[in-house]
Amino acid sequence: MKQFVVIGLGRFGSSVARTLAERGFDVLAIDQDESLVQEMANVVTHAVQADATDENAMNALGLRNFDVAVVAIGADVHSNILATMILKEMGVRYVVAKALDPLHGKVLAKVGADRVIFPERDMGKRLALNLISSNVLDFIEFAPNYSIVEIKATKGMVGKTLAELQLRTRFGVNVIAVKAKDRINISPSASDEIREGDILVVIGENQSVERLRRL
Ligand code: ADP
Repeated sequence: MKQFVVIGLGRFGSSVARTLAERGFDVLAIDQDESLVQEMANVVTHAVQADATDENAMNALGLRNFDVAVVAIGADVHSNILATMILKEMGVRYVVAKALDPLHGKVLAKVGADRVIFPERDMGKRLALNLISSNVLDFIEFAPNYSIVEIKATKGMVGKTLAELQLRTRFGVNVIAVKAKDRINISPSASDEIREGDILVVIGENQSVERLRRL
């Protein structure tokens, strides 16, 4: 099972750590603020007070053995970058770092971050898309220009099978699941009929998905 270390237990980091722990994963949570560490002590596997920019301290915690590290230090850009660099130099396989702006993100990529996230920007985009398209329930951008979206079955879809809808040919998208009230079909077949109230989980290029939700 994957082991995680989360550094920085502000609003973002504590939410990451808590969610991982709730799902049953081993989490080491680190913050330099003792009171935040105390708050997480009963939630995660281990919570430790330490300075993530102190290489010796990080070595002593054996961080190199962790599969994934999340650097969730927020406002202190200097510490955020140093911590990311130290983790990569120690040999942590996958380091996710939170950036405040694009330039900060570039620096994080340069020092070796495997993934850079912009929580405010990404959540803002998600919310905006959700607000302007009433039948799009959720949206994940999983590569530039490609998304996975949840779309409420439109009038044009209800009563038709996936074969009849020909979404692949017409829109270049794939339906990866269909959710109904009491069940979820994770391997929809061509003969499955879309009913009113169904939710389609669709993967495709952003433009194609956009055309589809107007169907
Ligand atoms: P958020 O916006 O997610 O609440 P914050 O910037 O408020 O983010 O929180 C980041 C956390 O990171 C704070 O709790 C802070 O104590 C912690 N932090 C900052 N620098 C370091 C460091 N060098 N080592 C460990 N923790 C740090």
